[in-house]
Amino acid sequence: MNHDAALVVFSGGQDSTTCLFWAKKRFRKVYALSFLYGQKHEKEVELARAIAEKAEVDFHVMDVSFVGRLGKNSLTDLSVKMDEEKPADSCPNTFVPGRNLFFLSIAAVYARELGVSHLVTGVSQTDFSGYPDCRDSFIKSLNVTLNLAMDEQFVIHTPLMWIDKAQTWALADELGVLDLVRNETLTCYNGIPGDGCGHCPACKLRREGLEKYLATKNKMKNGKER
Ligand code: ZN
Repeated sequence: MNHDAALVVFSGGQDSTTCLFWAKKRFRKVYALSFLYGQKHEKEVELARAIAEKAEVDFHVMDVSFVGRLGKNSLTDLSVKMDEEKPADSCPNTFVPGRNLFFLSIAAVYARELGVSHLVTGVSQTDFSGYPDCRDSFIKSLNVTLNLAMDEQFVIHTPLMWIDKAQTWALADELGVLDLVRNETLTCYNGIPGDGCGHCPACKLRREGLEKYLATKNKMKNGKER
């Protein structure tokens, strides 16, 4: 196993792009793995490829479109109208059941083929959208399961687990990729890159985080000038 290398589960969104550059700082060799899971906005994979090229990391795409067909959700099924708010008693219908379970399991098998033991994912429990598979307990449990399943010593890294969206922007800035993340990633549920449509839950979360971060940054800058 190559302990200097990491495989990043990479969608081309804000979070996984920040993780990709985080991994580049820490590992000698970085691989990015994207999934086609039947998402309505397949162009996100092309944006992901372009970012991976800029980052000079090896880019791979895997077709797992069965994942989107297994459970009804608004990211893969055109007949389901997207929840703009999180329902009080359940996950929003943007939740793709099993997605992170499948993605990370497949990523681990793939990493094993590459001889890579470090996996990186951009899940976060802090700005928790109600997705159970973004929680730390799930990731830790899966890490144990994957190690037992393949008799390996995988380490799943979750650099964003305990930070909010504003802090994720701060991290991107620290890594020198704030503009790249802002302009070239796709987070929007309506498939519009960069600042997005502005009104879907993903855009709202992303914008509020950016505004909060930029306000803090300006305050610090002004403080220093005084
Ligand atoms: Zn949007």
